[in-house]
Amino acid sequence: MPERIETESRKLLGRLREALAADNEGQARLDEVVDLIATSMMTEVCSIYLFRDSETLELCATKGLQAEAVHQTRMRLGEGLVGRTAKSRTVINTADAPAEKGFRYMPETGEERYSSFCGVPIQRLGDAMGVLVVQSKAAREFSADEVYALEIVAMVLAEMTELGAFVGEGAALSARHQQHVMLRGSVAQEGASEGCVFLHEPRVVVTNPISDDPDVELAHLRDGVEKLRKSVDHMLLGARSADADQAEVLEAYRMFANSGSWMRRMEADVSNGLSAEAAVEKEQSLARTRLNQAGDAYLRERLHDLDDLSNRLLRILTGQGADARNDMPENPILVARNIGPGELLEYGKALKGIVLEEGSVGSHAAIVARAWAIPLIINAKGITREALNGDPILVDGDQGIAHLRPDETVHGAFRDKLAMQTRAQERYASIRDLPATTKCGTTISLQMNAGLIADLPSLEGSGAEGVGLFRTELQFLVRNKMPRRAELSALYSRVVKSANGKRVAFRTLDIGSDKVLPYMKPNDEPNPAMGWRAIRVGLDKPGVLRMQLQALLRAADGGPLAVMFPFITQLEEFRAAKAEMDKAIAREKILGHSLPSSLEVGAMLETPSLGFAPDIFFEEVDFISIGGNDLKQFFFAADRENERVRKRYDTLNVSFLSFISQVIDRCNASNTALSFCGEDAGRPVEALCFAALGLRTLSMRPASVGPVKHLLRRVDLDEVKAVMDEAIARGDQSVRRAVADWLVYQV
Ligand code: PEP
Ligand code: MG
Repeated sequence: MPERIETESRKLLGRLREALAADNEGQARLDEVVDLIATSMMTEVCSIYLFRDSETLELCATKGLQAEAVHQTRMRLGEGLVGRTAKSRTVINTADAPAEKGFRYMPETGEERYSSFCGVPIQRLGDAMGVLVVQSKAAREFSADEVYALEIVAMVLAEMTELGAFVGEGAALSARHQQHVMLRGSVAQEGASEGCVFLHEPRVVVTNPISDDPDVELAHLRDGVEKLRKSVDHMLLGARSADADQAEVLEAYRMFANSGSWMRRMEADVSNGLSAEAAVEKEQSLARTRLNQAGDAYLRERLHDLDDLSNRLLRILTGQGADARNDMPENPILVARNIGPGELLEYGKALKGIVLEEGSVGSHAAIVARAWAIPLIINAKGITREALNGDPILVDGDQGIAHLRPDETVHGAFRDKLAMQTRAQERYASIRDLPATTKCGTTISLQMNAGLIADLPSLEGSGAEGVGLFRTELQFLVRNKMPRRAELSALYSRVVKSANGKRVAFRTLDIGSDKVLPYMKPNDEPNPAMGWRAIRVGLDKPGVLRMQLQALLRAADGGPLAVMFPFITQLEEFRAAKAEMDKAIAREKILGHSLPSSLEVGAMLETPSLGFAPDIFFEEVDFISIGGNDLKQFFFAADRENERVRKRYDTLNVSFLSFISQVIDRCNASNTALSFCGEDAGRPVEALCFAALGLRTLSMRPASVGPVKHLLRRVDLDEVKAVMDEAIARGDQSVRRAVADWLVYQV
């Protein structure tokens, strides 16, 4: 235990607490704080600069500089020593400020008379809020103790800023988390919704950064850490028997939870006057700053662990967010840094929208959101920092924009948009039972993609003719252990029954790449999307594939069955997978089980190579489904999860369409049924072009069936084809513009 000494910083914090508790306006509080610090540290100058916007710092209070400069002097992030402190998020401590690189002379403040400068960032959990500065005439560097005291004070200032202590008449600050903020991200699922923020990991609010009694606070901290250690031990015990890899991660957690230096630093901070919660947050802030700067992947992982552990400890100490699910508001809009498909599925369909700070369009969580037709915005930088649980939020999934705490004007415009959407939905509902027959008389079969039992009711509601893709891995992803054959067979049987006689194309397990089963050892592959995944796993370790095939055969219960294998890249893979099916049938026969009345065995075409397979492949396979999500990433060599490269390549690029045309021709030549089940099938313009090329079956998320059908019924495919051919002949890179321009005059 560190020896508790009545340090300067503790005395200072005591005075600070009194000043902050006084019934003052924000500016008066700030003025008093700088006065207090200058007096107690015996410096001529103490100033507080706070961010006016994300790029500009403003002098908000000073003791020692010209009073007229307050709210007048501003500098950009990185400009001058103050700007540098804010940008680097590190302390700048110098005896000769004018000689320092980047020193900026500001005549209005009269600061040329001061030689020493010490700037300490005011930050909270990696979120820069401003800079605390002390200056003196005498040329001296501030001692380590003095810097430490300033850091502690800066920590308290950050907490108080967060709590709105400096807001009010005359203050430069407006309250945080109260104004309207517009965040721009990328579209991952269209649609609009209105609701309240529901944080996946709610931020803990520290309301008492300064302790009343360090002894009590130390006991509180130790008690919290003890509970944390026990909970990690408990998790570890469970994981050891079930999952060696998860246990490995938890071992790292335990190491941090038992770290002597972590504990010592927090104890020292508490001894110096911080509350237990503030001490934890100070450490967490430090870790976040390092996390933002760390390039090394391993180090980043460990810092993430530490961040997570601090969150757990804060929740224990404050009792906040113990059971987030209970706090789900009405019309919840989920806000998270990122989320896996399993966690998302746990929240269920109650969610009205999702806004992620990171995320990617091709991820499985995005696919789940799409299946549920929940608007999803990804890459909305800053959302987890800005949003508080329960904040009103509008999600504009069409533009990729989230409005947090919207004002009345924004709200009004948004409601108009929602009303328009409702009218569109009514239009789609009116054609639900009509076929997708174009003006030229061609009928396109529109099917839906699914992956959960909960998706099946959409079959009726959307007007889809069947399930063109049933992603079986979602069932594996939501569990914490491998399902058994009997469970799977019961589940598939429910799917078949819910489909009510409509065809369901079951895709066998497609794991690997971004779909990592929590209970399977992850492979440390440099390039998982091109690694050991999908049918490759199924063929190399056939136990699960065999179990799944048997479960499917039983679920068919003497009725028809359609099964397809994911990620087939060459003839031999299809033959080997089909041989597994033949073996499964033979086994079922021996066991005396009934066999499907008809069996279709198909392959997903997700790599260019399969398009060039020998003719015999097209003859042997019963049907082919183009998995455009994967096919596109391999065709263009652009990772579907990497937003930066993914967006460069258009599905309506003529090279891609020319490849699809060839596949259509080959399927026509061998009379092989062909469908397209990637996400692009659900985009009306893309669907139109695919149909014009000759695709007759498209499988999409249920919410897309209406819009796609609506468009198809209004066009003549020969005319679309002519527009596309013209664009191709002209040498356009993509036919999108030509088709879109043409559409303006058609519909
Ligand atoms: C695809 O790749 O287009 C596809 C449908 O499969 P998934 O998105 O599940 O990889
Ligand atoms: Mg795929």
